[in-house]
Amino acid sequence: MKSRRSIAVVGAGFGGVGTAAMLRRAGYEDVTVFEKGERVGGVWFHNTYPGAACDVPSNLYEFSFAPNPRWSRRFAPQVEIQAYIEDVARREGVFDRIKTSTEVERATWDEERAKWVLETSAGEHEADVLVTACGQLSVPSVPPLPGLDSFAGPAFHTAEWRHDVQLEGKRVAVIGTGCSAIQTVPAIQPIVEQVDVYQRSPGWTLPKMDFEYRERTKRLFERFPALRRLDRAGSFAFLETATAAMTSRQWLLPLFRATARRQINKAIADPGLRRKVTPTDELGCKRIMLTDDWYPTLTEPNVELVNDRIAEVTPSGLRTADGRERPADVLVLATGFKSHAFVAPMEIEGPGGHTLAEEWGDVARAYLGLSVPGFPNMFVLYGPNTNGGAVSIIHQLESGIGHVVAALEELDRRGADRIEVTRDAAEAFDRELRAALAGTVWHAGCTNWYVDENGNDPSQWPWQWTAYRKRTATLAPGAYSFSARELAPVAS
Ligand code: NAP
Repeated sequence: MKSRRSIAVVGAGFGGVGTAAMLRRAGYEDVTVFEKGERVGGVWFHNTYPGAACDVPSNLYEFSFAPNPRWSRRFAPQVEIQAYIEDVARREGVFDRIKTSTEVERATWDEERAKWVLETSAGEHEADVLVTACGQLSVPSVPPLPGLDSFAGPAFHTAEWRHDVQLEGKRVAVIGTGCSAIQTVPAIQPIVEQVDVYQRSPGWTLPKMDFEYRERTKRLFERFPALRRLDRAGSFAFLETATAAMTSRQWLLPLFRATARRQINKAIADPGLRRKVTPTDELGCKRIMLTDDWYPTLTEPNVELVNDRIAEVTPSGLRTADGRERPADVLVLATGFKSHAFVAPMEIEGPGGHTLAEEWGDVARAYLGLSVPGFPNMFVLYGPNTNGGAVSIIHQLESGIGHVVAALEELDRRGADRIEVTRDAAEAFDRELRAALAGTVWHAGCTNWYVDENGNDPSQWPWQWTAYRKRTATLAPGAYSFSARELAPVAS
């Protein structure tokens, strides 16, 4: 064993399972993962709505160290991704380190002993290092619609799907037209009597071009890993190009926009409906949605796309601003997530009783999205400004975990027990980041889940993904300070 250092990880989605696996591979055996859900999987365990599937090619939505040559489709469905995460946890020998149904409520730094003390629903736990892997899309957002509580039928969020509610022959109202809605609505439309989709503002889509992998292809992928890697490299190159279009090479955007317009015009003949679904803001400002069945579904006779503002929810339906009430038996909230909550509702208290919520104030910030000054031995995976408009978050997580491993190895090399990002390094990085973000398409003036109502963006990474991998691969000189309990702090 390389180090006896103990590491506590919060969350057992891709981030937590990946952390446990990569730490184990690096020789760190004393790892405990806490997961409040009953099973591992994170968002893939919770999001079981009809039609739930990945919209990132599966050959990229997997760990590089745990390739799966047997994905059934280009874009795997939720059940297959959930099975993959559980399988990785088992194969990597970390399944028994995951404590499910255990919520971490609070983590407090004990300066004297250089330890994190975790208060969990199953009691106290201590660790030398804290890694949070809570995701950005795990806390459902329920809009404060007047009368929502008065709705008489079942009302639920897409991430809390009620499988006990039969939809056959029912009138269903779906609020929202983001990624979750465009997967749910086509899946339920064939079985319901009527589905009314309440759209506040439309988003651009591109063809998903999903397909099933033939058995022969899967066998070839198994036999010749280089073929699978080539397939993966093709997906990565496409997403890097899309990322460039949204950031530094916006002259590429018209190409994507032309494809998006063609998709609308091909599927929808009615000029009124075309107008309703065509965004007025720039492509990529809201997350681009990949779909082949959204527009065809909107043309079905039992589907109405409602553009009028929702005035109130009544016991029997929804009333729009024009005064019209549409009846509904079931209400589905496809209204997204509190994406800026990061580690919340967990409370994190650093040295001197300073909390992470106080440090962040109006907007969460972290050096490389991972390290926060004033919070030693702590790393935030999929933290502030690590999201992309077109990226596999698994690639992103692997980069972040690689940084955590590099940090722990440096702690070991120095015989230190405390690592903390310097405020200078964090502030310099933040200035560089904000300057780059200002020119990106996400700030082109639309509503999206990246930028808050005050214009703060704690979500997006404004550069290429290869740049994130490169910057997180090592510890930049001077970025971190190290100390041992008996030693004075030394800058690296
Ligand atoms: P979302 O993209 O944030 O969409 C929420 C929708 O609800 C938007 O259409 C929004 O309208 C609408 N909305 C919110 N509050 C409203 C209100 N008060 N009244 C009316 N409409 C309201 O959420 P999401 O669809 O759950 O997707 C979130 C993210 O999760 C995605 O961008 C993606 O990163 C991830 N996701 C991924 C997959 C996958 O396949 N891998 C699938 C689902 C989700 P406005 O646009 O006007 O704000």
